[in-house]
Amino acid sequence: MISEEQAKQHIRELLEFIGEDPTRTGLQDTPDRMIRMFGEMFRGYDPAQAPKVTTFPNGQDGIIYDDMVVDCGPFYSVCEHHCRTFFGDYWFAYLPNPKGRILGLSKIGRVVDYCAARLQVQERLVHDVVEMLTEALGTENPPLGMALMMRGRHMCKESRGVRKSGVMTSTYLTGSFRTNAQTRNEFLSYIDKSGNV
Ligand SMILES: [Zn+2]
Repeated sequence: MISEEQAKQHIRELLEFIGEDPTRTGLQDTPDRMIRMFGEMFRGYDPAQAPKVTTFPNGQDGIIYDDMVVDCGPFYSVCEHHCRTFFGDYWFAYLPNPKGRILGLSKIGRVVDYCAARLQVQERLVHDVVEMLTEALGTENPPLGMALMMRGRHMCKESRGVRKSGVMTSTYLTGSFRTNAQTRNEFLSYIDKSGNV
């Protein structure tokens, strides 16, 4: 484990490596700002900052949810190959177990944000999110299936290298989303077909 001061020194060296003068006014506080930004961008390494995923017994409100629950929203992450941003939208769905538990809806986005706050590849990110949400629902009466699709724009591809825009899609399906075409198609019907993110 290196100290914050050592990390700042390495940033100054990197600035010098790219041809900069790390002592000039505009850059003097940059290592400090980057370290503080890293604390936020990479909080996904710190288990103490993991969101508490609230779940409720299905039927607690007097109604048993057994239909598909869908949530979507944006995500921001950093690719582990180039340390460049990739970002886009996610679509999540699950089929609650009538005898199991249901997810607090706001927690899905928090789990996405937490898992995205690490150096990632999009393929692993979809797994990490689904696994954390599956774990939160417990193994006794697990959900009948979960699905996550992410569409991301990768700056390492768009702003350098091949410089081609394009959206990468990755999905992770479990349970009935994997085995039942009708369930899978219902999930896919919720997804914005424009291909934009
Ligand atoms: Zn990359």
